[in-house]
Amino acid sequence: MRAVRFESGGAIKVVQLPNPQPGAEDVLVQVLAAGVCRTDLHLLDEVKAGEHEPLIPGHEMAGRIAKIGDDVYTAKVGDLVGVHFEQPCGRCRQCRRQKTNLCEQGTTLGFDAPGGYAEFVVAKQTTILPLPPNFDLALAAPLGCSGATAYRAVVAFGQAEEEDMVVIIGAGGVGLSAIQVSKAYNARVFAIEPRVEARKAALDCGADRAVGPDEAGAAFRDFANDAGADVAIDFVGTKGTFDLGRSLLGPGGRFVAVAPGSEAVQVTANDLVDGGKAYLGAYSSTMADFARAISLAEAGRLRPVVTRKAPLADAAEVLNDLRDGKIVGRAVLFPGPMG
Ligand SMILES: [Zn+2]
Ligand SMILES: [Zn+2]
Repeated sequence: MRAVRFESGGAIKVVQLPNPQPGAEDVLVQVLAAGVCRTDLHLLDEVKAGEHEPLIPGHEMAGRIAKIGDDVYTAKVGDLVGVHFEQPCGRCRQCRRQKTNLCEQGTTLGFDAPGGYAEFVVAKQTTILPLPPNFDLALAAPLGCSGATAYRAVVAFGQAEEEDMVVIIGAGGVGLSAIQVSKAYNARVFAIEPRVEARKAALDCGADRAVGPDEAGAAFRDFANDAGADVAIDFVGTKGTFDLGRSLLGPGGRFVAVAPGSEAVQVTANDLVDGGKAYLGAYSSTMADFARAISLAEAGRLRPVVTRKAPLADAAEVLNDLRDGKIVGRAVLFPGPMG
């Protein structure tokens, strides 16, 4: 099969590899669409720096079941499915409690197991979900990371409810999905994003207001009639965005960090106790989150913003454009025919 690999030194190469074979409880999925996530750039940087083994990236996939193992009962050959990247062991303490995103022994497609920038990928049968009939595969692929992560951040951690004021910091692929999920729960959404085009996309996704970071403080006070935010979700992960979210959070508010970042940030005990605020980190997502993301998509409430479609061989160019901020929402790669 053809696949794209991040090679040591940081080269992005199209390579020819033997087709992978599914184990007894695995499925072989012909990848028909693979989303390009900002995390892929972090991985590329790590491979370049020698901090990560070379790999086949891609953790947002949709495709067709091409082959099943002997003990597979969740799918049959020909089914169209979404694939979740987490491949939990199913046996550890976290898995037993359904916290499969925190599995102690599993692998992750596109990280330490071969991912979706390839014609085929092997996944555990418990990590696929059937797609709604006639669902656009280019929109299905991003649901695995962008959609499920947004659902987890907004609902599971942010606990957004009707009339809540939700601040979304960073209107990239996941941020735009988070705006749609927040609106599906009838929250009021205030988006903060430096790029004009992405602010426009935020409004198209239902944000009630979208502003640049410099004007965010004053604009939010106006938007919220001097109340604080009930939920602030940071999809950027810098000290600047943390401080911005913290400054807008009202009493009882939930701050949810989604993007990784290594800058030190500060919260006082008064923030937590007097303000009754919670600062949370939402890591990855579970199959339950993925299922909810697909349900919202089927209901027409969540529609990943896909503005770029390209053949798999163009992965390097697409990743460069993503790094340069030239891609609004998601780009999707097609290992087979263009969808
Ligand atoms: Zn991702
Ligand atoms: Zn586990």
